[in-house]
Amino acid sequence: MRDTDLFQLALGLSAPWTVTRSTFDAEGGQLDLHIDFARGSRFACAACGREGCAVHDTREETWRHLDFFQHRTLLHARVPRVTCPACGVRKVATPWARAGSGFTLLFEAYVLALAKVMPIANAARLLGEHDTRLWRIVAHYVWRAVEALDLSDVRQIAADETSARRGHDYISLFVDMAKRKVVYVADGKDAATVKEFADFLEAHGGSREAVTDASIDMGAAFEAGIKDNFPNAEITFDKFHVIKLANEAVDQVRREEARNNFQIKGRRYIFLKNVDHLTQEEKEALSQLEAQNLDTTQAMQIRMNLQQLFTMAPKAARRFLDRWNTWVEVSDLGPMKKLAMTVMAKAEGILRSIATGLSNGVLEAINGNVQAAKRKAKGYRTKRNLKAIVYLIAGDVLANSPT
Ligand SMILES: [Zn+2]
Repeated sequence: MRDTDLFQLALGLSAPWTVTRSTFDAEGGQLDLHIDFARGSRFACAACGREGCAVHDTREETWRHLDFFQHRTLLHARVPRVTCPACGVRKVATPWARAGSGFTLLFEAYVLALAKVMPIANAARLLGEHDTRLWRIVAHYVWRAVEALDLSDVRQIAADETSARRGHDYISLFVDMAKRKVVYVADGKDAATVKEFADFLEAHGGSREAVTDASIDMGAAFEAGIKDNFPNAEITFDKFHVIKLANEAVDQVRREEARNNFQIKGRRYIFLKNVDHLTQEEKEALSQLEAQNLDTTQAMQIRMNLQQLFTMAPKAARRFLDRWNTWVEVSDLGPMKKLAMTVMAKAEGILRSIATGLSNGVLEAINGNVQAAKRKAKGYRTKRNLKAIVYLIAGDVLANSPT
């Protein structure tokens, strides 16, 4: 077998395309494969699909392909333009690459596989390419897949914000709870993002009316947005956000008390961690503090008690919540009272999360993955790039490889 036949087979080329020549530069570490077509070949029009169009002229093009062992591999071909009776002079489609890419489809598929598991800058270094060229590949396939998303079966959704960059710059993630995938990423974290998502959902085969549940945080923005845009959605406030709010209240009590009590200073974590997760030393410090009947330990007990709510059966949970509220009301702790007021105002949605078992747990995990990717990438130059990566890793929009 000649080397050109071998490469032709390996590339999966069929008539009229053939590998006519290969040159290998061992010192430069490069393999060049030259592809051509037989004189008199006819091609389909890339625009309308009409077969048998005559060649008008050709232009030499080059694509980077997967490495041959450790050697950079380039494909070269003269790409014909044909005369189509309907469309005029048109470039033909090459079976190994999409128009204008500069990379073969297999190379692009490899880039996408890397993009799922490492920052683009790292993939660029590994492949010896400039990262803007790789971003172009990622953007092409991700946005094409997002455009093609079918959201006709979305019924239960969850929404949460995550930081996009330093400071107060956020994106909002909307998740299909059944598939546990991000299906929409919006700029910002206000009620308008919910409307944007509702419009996107309907542009992709879904329906506002079909959404039955929405799991969100207790901020006013998402709640207003859900009420305005999803008329049939029951709102649930999930455990993660309730506990987060409770932790913030405990921390506020601690800060106030720490002004007059040096023993509490620098002990923040003792009060925020679950007791099971404390070290022996921390446990001893905690029981010493408990003996002093501090506001902070009382606040912590209120928080731990609230946490138990989420282990209960729905009916018992309602009674438990009322008792918890009575207890907090007679305490003398401003931040905890404020917490109890919020919790009781949102009690319907909180208790519903216990009944339905819906939680933003999947979103918490997704948030973690997004923030980890962001850290590893040392941030993203544009928000659009960040969004593309969210769709790629948390939306899994390219679960089926494009090639
Ligand atoms: Zn045509």
